[in-house]
Amino acid sequence: MNLDTLRFDSDGLIPGIVQSRTGDIRMVAWLNREALQLTLDTGFVTFWSRSRQALWVKGESSGNRLKLIQIRPDCDADTLLILADPEGPSCHRGTESCFDPVPEDKLAATPWPATLPWLGQLETLLRARQTTADPAGSYTQRLFAQGVDRIAKKVVEEAGEVVIAAKNDDREAFVGEAADLLFHLELLLLERGASLLDVVEVLHHRHADRSGGPV
Ligand SMILES: [Zn+2]
Repeated sequence: MNLDTLRFDSDGLIPGIVQSRTGDIRMVAWLNREALQLTLDTGFVTFWSRSRQALWVKGESSGNRLKLIQIRPDCDADTLLILADPEGPSCHRGTESCFDPVPEDKLAATPWPATLPWLGQLETLLRARQTTADPAGSYTQRLFAQGVDRIAKKVVEEAGEVVIAAKNDDREAFVGEAADLLFHLELLLLERGASLLDVVEVLHHRHADRSGGPV
């Protein structure tokens, strides 16, 4: 990225939208040229605080830094999309994102915002269940307490049900079984210390490497 092609505003600032690898939008803040250069040099996202009129290494005091992955300017070079790995919650309220979550009652009433990045949030939720694994707990906590054999058995069961549903002419049942399979596969990934992100990375590399891969 050529900094000279960026369009900073009359105060010398450019907004940066921070997105995590799960697709979650974490926060929006301002950068001046120095903050951007520091971000690139240190590998940790640094902003310009308009209220304090000072450079602000995100997470400097809280420890919740943003480890830089990639910065992409938008089409007219006056906004930055900053892809970063968060080392903790990004909002001062202690929430992962500065943007309010969709209220629980709205979640049930409409499929929005059940987009693909929500899988990342689901993984975060399931990881919390894993750390509180309990034979007397929720369905997920019980599965984690029972360990890899039990979870792997569920994956095989659900895979069989997906196949049966795929052969019946019932789209709703088929999608439901696919959801069950994906859910239990996700549990198995976590149980073995892996993540859905690892799987996505493999798929992406296969695609990026044109010499091989199925896509
Ligand atoms: Zn916030």
